[in-house]
Amino acid sequence: MTTEPQQFASDNYAGACPEALEAMLAANAGSAVAYGDDGWTQRASDSFRTLFETDCEIFFVFNGTAANSLALASLCQSYHSVICSSAAHVETDECGAPEFFSNGSKLLLAPSADGKLTPEAIRTLAGSRSDIHFPKPRVVTITQPTETGQVYSVAEVRAISAVCRELGLKLHMDGARFAHACAALGCTPAAITWEAGVDVLCFGGTKNGLMVGEAVIFFDRALAEDFDYRCKQAGQLASKMRFLSAPWIGLIESGAWLRNAEHGNACAERLAARVADLPAVQLLFPVQANSVFLVAPDAVLDELRARGWRFYTFIGGGARFMFAWDADPARVDQLAADIRAACEVRALA
Ligand SMILES: *Cc1c(COP(=O)(O)O)cnc(C)c1O
Repeated sequence: MTTEPQQFASDNYAGACPEALEAMLAANAGSAVAYGDDGWTQRASDSFRTLFETDCEIFFVFNGTAANSLALASLCQSYHSVICSSAAHVETDECGAPEFFSNGSKLLLAPSADGKLTPEAIRTLAGSRSDIHFPKPRVVTITQPTETGQVYSVAEVRAISAVCRELGLKLHMDGARFAHACAALGCTPAAITWEAGVDVLCFGGTKNGLMVGEAVIFFDRALAEDFDYRCKQAGQLASKMRFLSAPWIGLIESGAWLRNAEHGNACAERLAARVADLPAVQLLFPVQANSVFLVAPDAVLDELRARGWRFYTFIGGGARFMFAWDADPARVDQLAADIRAACEVRALA
């Protein structure tokens, strides 16, 4: 099979980074105890505890939909509700899995232009009803960075968690691109999670350089009770768990988790800078993490497609470009040059 030129339509187009692969190969040498009672899984969990500077509880699952859904289900009874942004992945891209795994907990949507939740929006939704006919608000979930690449500052997360504490709500963070947020903020993982009041984090490995896998991290260990049963019932208990956990060791202990994210963020900035002077092309959202959303006339987008570029336009109507750990800067420059050329060809530059 010939390799195709690199595309930036999704950060899931990327392969696995060398650090993850090396750890995988190391874990493959010899046998190990099944179902997570192995040394690799123990070491990966300890790596997270060191990284987060706290004695948290860690579970490894296959994908982000499972991580989010099971984490939310563990925080809810079936008659509870979960406050999220109308743009949240749990609402728009998980096929009802959060409702399914929680046996019916309802998602309460806060309309949001940039995908962020605010303390005011949470307060309004949580206070909208308090009668027995409406599902009781129990959890708030925020996406860090959001689906459109907006990063919550530490102060913003703290303000949200303060409202949660006041209203008796748990705070969950969908961190499918958590590393990219840490890289953008230049803060420690602890500062933007448990120190800021986050109860449970879903830390995305797939978009950070693993071949597969996400970690569900409970900072309040009491909330993790029976979570292992929940994973097993949902088909998320890996029998050869070391293959889901060991790659994290490579990612975390080498520092690749942060380097990979910094690289993705830098490539997004690189593209944005190279098209900034084009009058026909605008940024749909500020570039804060590893995504660039461009608004351009259909003719320009058609020309880009004709030049072989793949991209999605399902979020906000803009053309989305995502940059993973392996994004080739020369290819980023080529994309920028083709965007410029597309504007010229269509007489828009
Ligand atoms: C990619 C992503 C997920 C996880 O998606 P899966 O395809 O289930 O792994 C979750 N949340 C956000 C915001 C994402 O971008």
